[in-house]
Amino acid sequence: MLAKCLSKDQMRMEILSSVQRLHAELYTIQAEHFFVPSFIKAIDENTEQGFRNIMKEASPGVFVFEMLQPRFCEMLMAEVENFEKWVHETKFRIMRPNTMNKYGAVLDDFGMETMLDKLMEDFIRPISKVFFPEVGGSTLDAHHGFVLEYGMDRDVDLGFHVDDSEVTLNVCLGKQFSGGELFFRGVRCDKHVNTETQSEEVFDYAHLPGRAVLHRGRHRHGARATISGNRINLLLWCRSSVFRELRKYQKDFSSYCTECQRERKERQRQSVAAIKLVR
Ligand SMILES: [Zn+2]
Repeated sequence: MLAKCLSKDQMRMEILSSVQRLHAELYTIQAEHFFVPSFIKAIDENTEQGFRNIMKEASPGVFVFEMLQPRFCEMLMAEVENFEKWVHETKFRIMRPNTMNKYGAVLDDFGMETMLDKLMEDFIRPISKVFFPEVGGSTLDAHHGFVLEYGMDRDVDLGFHVDDSEVTLNVCLGKQFSGGELFFRGVRCDKHVNTETQSEEVFDYAHLPGRAVLHRGRHRHGARATISGNRINLLLWCRSSVFRELRKYQKDFSSYCTECQRERKERQRQSVAAIKLVR
């Protein structure tokens, strides 16, 4: 199995036919078993006020809310552990979730693709439509779902970066840990991704199990070192093919980028000043 070079689809087929599922109920969305009642209520209401009632905008563009039931978090962690055990025993070569993490598993690879699609369509898209319309929040149509594990014997921290997503859902599943705070440093387009952080953009966040953070993929962030214990997070990178297509034609200005907005304001200020001078 080690020597074989499998395509993604072949790899998924092989995994699906070999791995024994631990909790079959995880593979189809059952809202009342997955989510806390306040979250279900807000989704059912589907209004901005309803979302604001449960979501705190902790810093501009970073929304924090209670989302997952403890029992669901436990089952999902056990499912990932079960999958990792199988990977280890069979020496199966899986792809890690992204280029930055050595530990963690892509949930889409072992049968959760349909469930996560539904999670994005029915739960994350309605919220993103309200809070992130300028990055294609209402047209999210693809996802990358994975679980990351941090700790002394795992990945310790995660450098400063932006996600390959329009909207990112990041939920802490557990377990006991200290450290591992997320830090956010403002939303930027490709051109401005390395520019300075303004003081009002500095935001640090400590994860709690069951609680979710929702932000634009272009919101620069990282994770500090997990000092003790293990921290396990569910990540859902939500993408919009419509937004990605449109972005190709709008290279000079990105409405979601704080630096683009600042530059545009500065140009307007200068042109107004120039007109005054001519008069
Ligand atoms: Zn920009």
